[in-house]
Amino acid sequence: MMRSVRTVLIVANWKMNTTPRDAGDLASAIAAVTDEPLVQRVICPPYVSLSAVCEALDGTHVGIGAQNVHAEVSGAYTGEISATMLVGLAGWCIVGHSERRRDQDETDESIGRKLLRCREAGLVPILCVGERLEEREAGRAEEVVRGQLEGALGVAAAGAGGIDPKLVIAYEPVWAIGTGRTARGADAAAMADAIRDSVRSLGPSDPDALPILYGGSVTSASIGEFLAEPGIDGALVGGASLKVEEMAGIVARAAMTGRARAASAGPQG
Ligand code: PEP
Repeated sequence: MMRSVRTVLIVANWKMNTTPRDAGDLASAIAAVTDEPLVQRVICPPYVSLSAVCEALDGTHVGIGAQNVHAEVSGAYTGEISATMLVGLAGWCIVGHSERRRDQDETDESIGRKLLRCREAGLVPILCVGERLEEREAGRAEEVVRGQLEGALGVAAAGAGGIDPKLVIAYEPVWAIGTGRTARGADAAAMADAIRDSVRSLGPSDPDALPILYGGSVTSASIGEFLAEPGIDGALVGGASLKVEEMAGIVARAAMTGRARAASAGPQG
């Protein structure tokens, strides 16, 4: 009897790095050294490089994601990109990254509407949540993350009659992003439990099928600690995702977890 297992997922967030000229070459190089059938890989380049990366990854199994999307369907929003514009260029979309919450004043409400736009367009949303250092030190990490989930998923679920079955969540403690500091695997696993519990309470959904990623200064050296936790299904990788050798190491470690999960699922049939 086969048990269903969550696929291991590695998402590269290139942030505001690369140009359309070099993004295709970097994507091709990463695809070539990370070809592991049991790991779903996704690369999220800047908008202007989506087309070049699409071309470079044609014929590979690497998914392509956007780093953001606008909360409205269309209209007078100069310089913005809607979900429907992404269709054909990206299959995934990061939503609510902490850098955007901080720099663009994104709120749980607007993030909820972005999730709805993703769902309407058929994009897989990767919803980022995470607490700041002072919130963790005050013992409020779980409360903060639960609040972010309730705020964003509440809006999205109300607009669509339930939680998007394609939803992916990235737990990214803000103090670990780009700092070289990582959470402990056990803390990330405890937060993953709290996230599934929170999603369960928000309406009909299958939290056991919900992929949860860890993000925050993940490297080939640190990813093992997170993938050793059964509740963590992969990583959202920023800085290290711009380095081909790092991505090779990260995906190689992820493939070990993918093989272990496949073996524990037992024979098909
Ligand atoms: C991120 O961009 O989501 C991220 C986790 O960045 P870094 O890996 O550089 O901390």
